[in-house]
Amino acid sequence: MPLYRQRDVAEIEAILNEILNTASPPVGRCRLLSSGINPAHALDIAEDISGHQECLGCGNCIDICPFLFREPSRREKTEQRSSMALESVVGEDCDRCAACVLVCPQVDTTIKNYIVNRRMVEVMSRLEQRIGDESEPDLDLFLEEAINPA
Ligand code: SF4
Ligand code: SF4
Repeated sequence: MPLYRQRDVAEIEAILNEILNTASPPVGRCRLLSSGINPAHALDIAEDISGHQECLGCGNCIDICPFLFREPSRREKTEQRSSMALESVVGEDCDRCAACVLVCPQVDTTIKNYIVNRRMVEVMSRLEQRIGDESEPDLDLFLEEAINPA
């Protein structure tokens, strides 16, 4: 059997950048641009689900979202753990960090590689501006405090 082909980002680059530039959780749309479940996935079920692009409800995107980390009361509005829930509680407050896309098992590696290699510098510099001019963290101090809490 030939290797299952994931989405070629060159075919979707324009719409992918449009999605990533929009202040709205991008993971659901990136999932729909992806190739879906690999036929070699080790799920022990009779139905052939290869190519299915549905949200698995794993909640990874909700768990990683930095906006929901800062605003836990938003997160408590629903117990659902799907991309639809993420969209409903984050909405236009999305930081456009793309972390939700990177942790989604239903988004193609090709799309994730594109984000890491072509988009992350812009994302990091934008987030750094929002945070402000924080000095470099003192990792040795953090480590010391973690090992020897007061
Ligand atoms: S993880 Fe980042 S891109 Fe995704 S919804 Fe949260 S803030 Fe937006
Ligand atoms: S990370 Fe999980 S919950 Fe979020 S969109 Fe992907 S499959 Fe759905």
